[in-house]
Amino acid sequence: LPEAVAAASAQAARLRLPVLVSDAHGVDAETTSRLHTNVSMVAAAPLLHEGHLLGTLAVFSEEPTRRFDSEDAELLELIAGLATAALVTGEAFDRQQHAVQELRRLHRAKADFVSIVSHEFRTPLTGIQGFSEMMRDEDLSRAQMREFAGDINKDAHRLNRLINEMLDLDRMESGRMTLHSEEISLNALVEEVATTARPNAPRHSIKLQLDPTSMLLRADRDKIVQALTNLIDNAIKYSPDGGVVVIRSFFEDDLAHIIVRDHGIGIQPDILETIFERYTRGESPQSRSIAGTGLGLPIVREIARLHGGRTWAESPTSGGSTFHLTIPRVATTVEVEGDG
Ligand code: ADP
Repeated sequence: LPEAVAAASAQAARLRLPVLVSDAHGVDAETTSRLHTNVSMVAAAPLLHEGHLLGTLAVFSEEPTRRFDSEDAELLELIAGLATAALVTGEAFDRQQHAVQELRRLHRAKADFVSIVSHEFRTPLTGIQGFSEMMRDEDLSRAQMREFAGDINKDAHRLNRLINEMLDLDRMESGRMTLHSEEISLNALVEEVATTARPNAPRHSIKLQLDPTSMLLRADRDKIVQALTNLIDNAIKYSPDGGVVVIRSFFEDDLAHIIVRDHGIGIQPDILETIFERYTRGESPQSRSIAGTGLGLPIVREIARLHGGRTWAESPTSGGSTFHLTIPRVATTVEVEGDG
C-alpha cells in the first residue's frame, strides 16, 4: 500500500471522519518513487459500526491533475456505509450459521440421549416389573423367591449405576468434582479391579503384566478404580466371544501408564477419538448389539484430565482394541472447590 494511502487511512481511523489529502504527491515523494506509484490524491473514510471501527476504505489517484472534492468524499462515505453494512451482515450471518449448527448438534445429542437412556432404563425396569409381578401373583418356592429377588436387586443396581454415571460426568465436566488424593499402589488397584471383574467374565482370561517395582502414586483412589473398571468392563463387554484381556502397568518418567488390551470386536480407526465424547457409541451392528450408554469412556477421560493425565484408544492391526491411561505420579491438577 502506498504510504500516502496508509497515512490517510490512519488519519480517517483516528478522526473517525472522511479525509481528503490533496498534496500526497509532495508529502510522500520518496516512498511513492520506491513503490513506483505516484499518488497525487487520496480520499479515505472509516468503516464504523455502532461506534466501533471495523477498518477504513480508501481510494487514490495517480493522475497529477485529478482532484477529489467534497462530493467524492460524500460518495466514499456512502460506499463505506454500504461496505460496513455488508461486513456486519456477513459476520452476523456467520455467527447465526454457527449457532444453528450448534443447536442442530445439541438437538441430535439430546435425541440420542433420550433414546439411549430410555432404552437403558427400560431394560432393568422391565426386569423389575416382571419379576415382582411373578413374586406377587404366583406360588413360588422359597428358592424361586430368592432367585427373583436377586434378579430385581441386580436390575436396581444397574439403574443406580446409570444414574450415578450421569451425575458424576455432569459434576466432573462442570468442575464441581473434588479429587481426594492419597498415596495409592497402582498394582494393588489393578489387581483389585481385575478380581472384581473376573466372576462376571467366565469366558475371558484376564492377565496382568504389572510393573515389578511397587508403584506408588498420589491420586484419587475411587476415581482411578472407576476409570480402570470402565476400561476393563469394556474390554470384556466388547469381546463377546471371550478371549484374553491383558492389563499392563509401568512407569515412564513421572507417569504411571496403564494399558488395557483386548481381542474383541475392535474399533473403526475413524471413531477412535469420538468414542470419548458423551453418549457416542460405535456404529457397527456388532457394537450396537451390546448394551451401553456411551458414558464410560467420557468418564475415564474426565478422570484422567482431573489428574493431569491422558487417555486414548488404538486399534491394533492384529485386531481387538488397546486403551491407554496415563496418570502423573503426583496429580498436578489444582483441586477445584466444590461440593465434593
Ligand atoms: P458404552 O460402552 O456404554 O457404549 P463407552 O463410552 O464406554 O460407552 O464406549 C463408547 C463406545 O466405544 C462403545 O459404544 C464402543 O463402540 C466403543 N468401545 C469402547 N471400548 C471398546 C472396546 N474395548 N472394544 C471395542 N469397542 C469399544
